Amino acid sequence: MPEDKDLNTPTPEPDYPDWRKDDKTLTNAGLPEEERDWFCDARPHPVPKSAAVIEKFFNWARSNSLWILAFGTGCGAIELRPLISSRYDISRLGMQMRPTPRQASVFMIGGYVSIKTLKRIVRSYEEMQGPKFVVAVCSCAINGGMYWDSYNTIKRIDEYIPVDVYVTGCMPRPEAVLAGFAKLKELIRAGRAEGQNLYAEKFDWYKANQKQVIKDWNMPDYNW
Ligand code: SF4
Repeated sequence: MPEDKDLNTPTPEPDYPDWRKDDKTLTNAGLPEEERDWFCDARPHPVPKSAAVIEKFFNWARSNSLWILAFGTGCGAIELRPLISSRYDISRLGMQMRPTPRQASVFMIGGYVSIKTLKRIVRSYEEMQGPKFVVAVCSCAINGGMYWDSYNTIKRIDEYIPVDVYVTGCMPRPEAVLAGFAKLKELIRAGRAEGQNLYAEKFDWYKANQKQVIKDWNMPDYNW
């Protein structure tokens, strides 16, 4: 017989991992005083893993149901439209486009990223619910491409948000993008699409990089 629980004895704190022990709230200092209460001030946390067999099932389900927020930041985004046409028809592969970050699990960046656009990218990424994944399409988003020495574009998107899959090319054809999604599915099924957890673990590094280029930081530090 199990012993009755003594209701007067508080349950001991679980042994939290290090990131939880060092938890700090955000200040949202970029916002005016009256707006700070409107937004969450908690930091992102890595998603805890379930038991292996359950996690394997979750990952199988996640990989077969990708809801995509396609952010066409540059010219390469023109190749994303054929994916939903009858020729390529990504719906048959368990993927569909969504119009809002709140409903999407995959963030697809298509093209060069200007500093002005980066602000929207960060905001959109943080508004997505987890588990979430990022696919960077186009050389410009990955390494600067032909805009490498532009005064107004960033060189590497993965210094600002984590990227799970890179699709190179100028501009990559829809087949290349489909191959990128096949790779993403493979990584999710193997439990290796860990960008979201990386963002939580290296949050201060990402945030410092973002604030270095976005000078008018008038948004919350994290907007989950
Ligand atoms: S890689 Fe080429 S197609 Fe893609 S955004 Fe850059 S210039 Fe445009």
